[in-house]
Amino acid sequence: MSGKEILDIRSVTREELENFFLQHGEKKFRAGQAYDWLWKKSCQSFNAMTTLSKEARQLLASQFSFNTASVAIKQQSSDGTIKVAFGLHDGFQVEGVMIPSGDRATACISSQVGCSLGCNFCATGKLGFTRNLTTGEIVDQVVHLSNLAPHLSNIVFMGMGEPFLNYEAVKMAIEKITATDGLAMSPQRITVSSIGIPKMIRKMTDDGAKFHFALSLHAANDKKREKIIPFHRNYSLTEIIDALKYYYAHSHKRLTIEYILLGKFNDTIADAKELAVFCKNFPVKINIIEYNPVKETGFIKSDPEDEKAFVNFLEKRNMVVNVRKSRGQDIDAACGQLACHSRNKQLINIL
Ligand code: SF4
Repeated sequence: MSGKEILDIRSVTREELENFFLQHGEKKFRAGQAYDWLWKKSCQSFNAMTTLSKEARQLLASQFSFNTASVAIKQQSSDGTIKVAFGLHDGFQVEGVMIPSGDRATACISSQVGCSLGCNFCATGKLGFTRNLTTGEIVDQVVHLSNLAPHLSNIVFMGMGEPFLNYEAVKMAIEKITATDGLAMSPQRITVSSIGIPKMIRKMTDDGAKFHFALSLHAANDKKREKIIPFHRNYSLTEIIDALKYYYAHSHKRLTIEYILLGKFNDTIADAKELAVFCKNFPVKINIIEYNPVKETGFIKSDPEDEKAFVNFLEKRNMVVNVRKSRGQDIDAACGQLACHSRNKQLINIL
């Protein structure tokens, strides 16, 4: 906490906050009160910390910034899905989605503004990368989305960005969401979805991650995967398998394999066979995701007959397969469609 840089209050640890108050002649317990407002009560401004004296609030405001993500645009799909564009302090936006389903609701949240990985089927990938989200901005998405659906049951990091490329902020956000002095949600209800960077899978394992892990596989063949996920050229499926075996050996947690079915690209029986071979390495659940066509990608949705044959092939081999129907497609909220269409492109051009 030194130098002229103005720190975001939510990047400061409890201990740092305690020292800060002591150095400024305030009682140490003020830090606990402030911390409670920040992470348990999810307040969005210094003024809202009403158990702190006016002087203490002014002191904080004079030394720290408070960079929140606020609801900028809200759209509701005919199927009940709600997409929110969150405005950030520097004018950028990210999107999050609330997907209700019976008495449950899943919040799909973002970890980065844009994404550097440029997967060829994904609208976010077309935006390029702007910046990582902070821990506070990630948690804000959960707070705002949970206000839209009080029965929020699950959180998935499947919005904009690759969570493993903003690992520390994502990890810290999960700590705040699950902490008893935070939002107190169970880590069992949180899933981090990644294209699977082997060294990060190992790091997550070594960190003793309690959340679920989903691998966005989409092709169980190196050449084919590289065509849709250019970043895959940096490693091989064998390296991913080794890292996942390491993860399973330590966590004993079943993996989820995400597989977007792209028509005439990865939806043949030969592709299903490769997927089955890949999945033999560890216990998995396979989520088959219907593709939501994104302009200019050139990819199409799989033919229903091809999808059926693909799923049947896997089920006959006793694999656990769920088919995820597209949700929120009419508001561009479906998987792979998040792009904050107007806002971030404009800002990127200006900067
Ligand atoms: S699919 Fe995920 S990793 Fe790939 S470009 Fe889109 S957001 Fe990034």
